[in-house]
Amino acid sequence: MKTTQVRTRCECQSTLMAVLDERLNVIVGANVDSHDKHVQAPASRTFTSSHQVGISFACPICTRNVLRTFSMEQLSWESASNPNPLS
Ligand SMILES: [Zn+2]
Repeated sequence: MKTTQVRTRCECQSTLMAVLDERLNVIVGANVDSHDKHVQAPASRTFTSSHQVGISFACPICTRNVLRTFSMEQLSWESASNPNPLS
């Protein structure tokens, strides 16, 4: 399976990440602290276009609903045997 990982900063300055599969479905969302510890954070795809994918995150630190748009060109794909960093 090919996956890509997107990362963004929440307004509370914590880091949110999501792993997407080839169809741009969210496999897992997480909040990543400065020690690279992952805590599950709900994430879902809000839209896709030929150029962009929109992801919404529910930040577990500050409870904000964070909407971010990522450019397809910036996604880097890799083969992952275990795409879930929480497992
Ligand atoms: Zn936050």
